[in-house]
Amino acid sequence: MPGRLDEALREKLTQRLRYYEDIGIPLFYRDRAAAAAEPEPPSVEPAVEASVEAGVETESASAAVPEKEEILAKRSAVPATSKSGPAVPKLGVLITPAAISLFESAVRVANDSLEGIRAEIGEDCQRCKLCQKRNKIVFGDGNPHAELVFVGEGPGHDEDVQGLPFVGRAGKLLTQMIEAMGLARQDVYICNVVKCRPPENRQPEKDEVESCSPYLVRQIDAIAPKVIVGLGATASRTLLNTERGISQYRGEWQEFRGTKFMATYHPAYLLRNPAAKADVWKDLQKVMAVLGLAPKKGKPA
Ligand code: URA
Repeated sequence: MPGRLDEALREKLTQRLRYYEDIGIPLFYRDRAAAAAEPEPPSVEPAVEASVEAGVETESASAAVPEKEEILAKRSAVPATSKSGPAVPKLGVLITPAAISLFESAVRVANDSLEGIRAEIGEDCQRCKLCQKRNKIVFGDGNPHAELVFVGEGPGHDEDVQGLPFVGRAGKLLTQMIEAMGLARQDVYICNVVKCRPPENRQPEKDEVESCSPYLVRQIDAIAPKVIVGLGATASRTLLNTERGISQYRGEWQEFRGTKFMATYHPAYLLRNPAAKADVWKDLQKVMAVLGLAPKKGKPA
């Protein structure tokens, strides 16, 4: 019927509005004329609607459960967005420095490219035991020149079937997060620490991370983004080479091989703990400030 929203579009808009509510963007249902007459509320509010998503987790379930409290420098690392241009963040410092990273000293491969790395991994990589049960290798997806790279833990069931990262429930949430930043999925690059699904979505083991993560590092080097966002503990622990609990340093700027690194909670964790979406949104707003992306103003969807 003319004027009626297509069902799929309606569902997408509903999901998107729900996500905005979850992260504290409150303006969607307001009358434009009334809104113009009122002062604008802050773009992030502390209250978060609980229990939006329920149900069985089929994603990479180990991903990003925040780890136990540990002592870490607490800093307010990032200044507010400046009107004159992207904010310049201060870096947070882990009180106990991480050991020299496996990757910090890794030599950059001259003229490396995503295609070259993918070809080197091959169609039937056997470098670790994850090859035994995987269906498809999930190399990564998105803009090879992205300013922003998201790194997750490892493929789950849907990713293993499709050969693409973050296409299941957690992936849909990640897409909403990206869109709330004013970007599209194709604008960013999305990849994982390991490229093959760990059985039963268990955490990748040390030897698996060691065999696969050098390719992740090469992907990041080849893309040369301005900002890397580590989704969850595995990505952040691997790239920052720390054993510290993610809840102690998420939201604070770190550095990975000279590139700004922001650790935040994994979308699969947010599916189980919707209240943490507001924290993640704060982290992403810091990323937006650095990338010069305008904070969301609550315009009608
Ligand atoms: N969880 C991840 O860490 N990566 C994916 O690609 C999907 C879910």
